[in-house]
Amino acid sequence: LEEGARSCLLRFRHRLEQDIKPSYLMDHMISDGVLTVDEEERISNKPTRKDQAVALLELLLRKDNRGYISFYNALVKETYGDLANLLHDDLPQTLPGAYKSSSDGCTSYVQTVLSEGGVPQRPVVFVSRPEFVNCVREKLYRLQKEPGWVTVFGMAGSGKSVLAAEAVRHHGLIEECFPGGIHWLSIGQLDKPDLMVKIQSLCFRLEQSLDSPSLHRPPNSLDEAKERLRYLTLRRYPRSLLILDDIWDSTVLKAFDIHCRILLTTRNRSLTDSVSGAKYEVEVESGLDEKKGLEILALYTNTKLHGLPEEARSIVKECKGSPLVVSLIGALLKEKPNRWRYYLNQLQQKQFKRIRKSSSYDYDALDQAMDASIEVLPDEHRELYKDLSVLEKDIKVPAKVLSVLWDLEPEHVEDILEEFVNKSLLFVDSNNKPHLYYLHDLQLDFLVEQNRTQLESLHNKVVHQYQQHYRDGPPTSGDEECLYWIRFLTHHMAKANLSQELYSLMFSLDWVSIKAQIMGPAHLINDYVEYGPILDKEVSRQHNCTMYETNQFQEFLSLNGHQLEQRPFPDVVQLALSQPHTSEVYRQALLQAQDRASTG
Ligand code: ADP
Repeated sequence: LEEGARSCLLRFRHRLEQDIKPSYLMDHMISDGVLTVDEEERISNKPTRKDQAVALLELLLRKDNRGYISFYNALVKETYGDLANLLHDDLPQTLPGAYKSSSDGCTSYVQTVLSEGGVPQRPVVFVSRPEFVNCVREKLYRLQKEPGWVTVFGMAGSGKSVLAAEAVRHHGLIEECFPGGIHWLSIGQLDKPDLMVKIQSLCFRLEQSLDSPSLHRPPNSLDEAKERLRYLTLRRYPRSLLILDDIWDSTVLKAFDIHCRILLTTRNRSLTDSVSGAKYEVEVESGLDEKKGLEILALYTNTKLHGLPEEARSIVKECKGSPLVVSLIGALLKEKPNRWRYYLNQLQQKQFKRIRKSSSYDYDALDQAMDASIEVLPDEHRELYKDLSVLEKDIKVPAKVLSVLWDLEPEHVEDILEEFVNKSLLFVDSNNKPHLYYLHDLQLDFLVEQNRTQLESLHNKVVHQYQQHYRDGPPTSGDEECLYWIRFLTHHMAKANLSQELYSLMFSLDWVSIKAQIMGPAHLINDYVEYGPILDKEVSRQHNCTMYETNQFQEFLSLNGHQLEQRPFPDVVQLALSQPHTSEVYRQALLQAQDRASTG
């Protein structure tokens, strides 16, 4: 074992010994051929998990580089993302033999490239769909010599994202076509300021990994962001692939019409009509074929395919092979392996048939499956799961946000979230540190539909919990949790019908200054536009006349947008003092300036 790797193992030995479950990891290591069955047996014979972990690490220190790499890969596969990250920097790089070891072309090099680019890992239970994966790969190979677009389209929940991630999990493909790297961007339904922030953070990510980070200020407009991205992909990351996950709107696509290589997933086939360049497409069938559906159930229940009961087939049929629904049922059966008939009945009864259906949504089976999965949660967790109805689509949250919402210790929250994840009720992005959690679109539709009458009070709870937790003012750390609040607090207030709170927040120079500093002025301006009608109403209610405060703040932001993009961040009070003296912005700035003067 080379020195760097050995030292890394020793440094993190303690953490690893605390957290790993050796039995799972050893299975992978045996199939990589770095561990013998005898060795495994000796380790498994140790009385406790901890003893086994200690023994495994001891053994690993005596193995060669291949052992380290295999251990690392096993951690990734068993979704110990953060432990794998600890080992990542010291992965031995000079082992051509082991490098290309695994047969499906998924080497440690691939894992590294994908995790750097934020490509999601495989779901806990995964079945391969070679006919589609190969088809996508084949199209991707066409982008080897020239830029262009590959569209993967199909229904919601049909497995497009999983497929896109799987297609690039291939050594040869990356090496031959995209040596510049693979960069994943979750898009979803978003508006212009959101899109700009997305591109901005992508640029930031790209610039950070360069040896000489640039000194550019963040882009100011969508066009500027687009130009920046064009420069980066053309000059600094030639022959890289951008993966845009879940695109709804062709205007979003236009922002990426910059002669680069793009793989996108969407429900809408004709999106690329409006952009230029070579175009290829792959249609994903909405359901898995029977065999694959059964395979998922078999994996969840740890049974052999031919050992599945006869109900299994009917369950897959009832779900129309939807990977999402089959996974939900599989997770249920994992815990209650004798309920095949019961869950099949539930699926068939359709007793909870919904009254209204949102557009993206046409699975009765999903309703049944969600109902059943939620049903088996302990009462208190069911209530907590309901709270997730307030999340926005495609928004990923760290556990800390929920720890504020639920008023529980972060560790406790992580345990609860893990339970949801294990039941396929929630998904986790473990490439990110801290881990981020999110619902599938269809699950959110389901929750919103089911809790339609309570949404206002659910949002109310969010605002209330936030206010309890941040009595002394908004968080400013800039971490994932802080970002969430700064971005979505106004949204929750609006949905909770708390117009007075919204009014006080948005017409406070402090808030404006914090939000501008953390997110840039575009988001703020967007808030004023979006909530303008609510604010205007509140203004006239409070003052019995219309005061134009909305306009005053908006004007202040547009006039000073450029300054507010600067780093170091300017003194907002100073800027505000140059507003007309009749303006509310000026009035607050003056108060603060006087306050400063008196406190010295
Ligand atoms: P889409 O992007 O089409 O909406 P996803 O790719 O997000 O769908 O898949 C939805 C869910 O279905 C996943 O979270 C996973 O639980 C399950 N799933 C999809 N593809 C597979 C697969 N190949 N093997 C196992 N489960 C899958």
